[in-house]
Amino acid sequence: MSSIAWLSKKLDDGRIACEACNQHCKLSEGEYGICGIRKVENGELYLLTYGLAAAVNVDPIEKKPMFNFLPGSSVFSFGTVGCNFSCKFCQNADISQYPKEHNHEIIGHPLSPQRAVAKALEYGCQSIAYTYNEPVVFFEYTYDTAKLAHEAGLKNIYVTSGYETHKAIDTIAPYLDGMNIDIKGYSQSFYKDICGASLKPVLDTIEYAHKKGIWIETTTLLIPGYNDSDDEIRAIAQFQASLDTNMPWHISAFHPMYKMLNVPRTPAQTLRRAYDIGKDVGLKYVYVGNIDDEARESTYCPKCGKLVIDRHGHIGQYVTNHLVNNNQCPSCSYTLHGIWQ
Ligand code: SF4
Repeated sequence: MSSIAWLSKKLDDGRIACEACNQHCKLSEGEYGICGIRKVENGELYLLTYGLAAAVNVDPIEKKPMFNFLPGSSVFSFGTVGCNFSCKFCQNADISQYPKEHNHEIIGHPLSPQRAVAKALEYGCQSIAYTYNEPVVFFEYTYDTAKLAHEAGLKNIYVTSGYETHKAIDTIAPYLDGMNIDIKGYSQSFYKDICGASLKPVLDTIEYAHKKGIWIETTTLLIPGYNDSDDEIRAIAQFQASLDTNMPWHISAFHPMYKMLNVPRTPAQTLRRAYDIGKDVGLKYVYVGNIDDEARESTYCPKCGKLVIDRHGHIGQYVTNHLVNNNQCPSCSYTLHGIWQ
């Protein structure tokens, strides 16, 4: 299935500039974008995965991860094939890199925007997440779905590497309630050599989307020997604190994946070190993930320290929300930041 990729413009030289992401592809007839799913055919840019989901699940919202966003709720989650990054540690490379590794083949199961919304409602979800691969590469599919989802009373979440153009964010912002944006490291060499992208546009996206009023949480996957030095962890935390100390930061453990099978798992000690650094620079909501650490997966009142959202068991298995009046600490009445209803 394909649809016109309207987030684009025709150039004087006959090429088409895709305006979805900061790879800024300018494509001639027959060419594919870096993502492998946007292609010029008969003088138009097409999104080849429109209405074709390669992965669909009903997940706990905590799995995205979004912790200060409708805690304990279910989220209808889907993604397509294709990605604008080429992370060597990708956990979903079987779909994200599929077109690039299979001679431009596109796979997926039909899932129209209408059906996605109907399914989300049927399964009792409160939101839809565009996830598993990078959502901005299937922008028009997310846009149409997000619009319908809002009409049905559902919220929308991008789980993203943060390479959206300002135009993409401006266009989807009225329908986008939350984003989990990766900060994969804090060096240009890491982004270039390991991810096939650049650091600066990601930082810019976080700042821009935050200013637009979209609820942002960030995630950093700590990879031993690559991005886990004290200096780099502190730089990430300080960047985030400079924007907003209320922005939650998820620090996640790496497991050997894809092209990094020879790199060991992240020790729990590294995550605890990063947690302490995040707290030390003033971040109010720091969480660890991909390891068993209930104390550091729960939410505490930033003012009095009371446990206000208790998370334990498998991801999203047991979530007890103790907040009162929607968003207040039951002990000191402090108002916690997030999307709570
Ligand atoms: S979405 Fe795809 S085609 Fe568009 S700029 Fe990004 S990588 Fe290129």
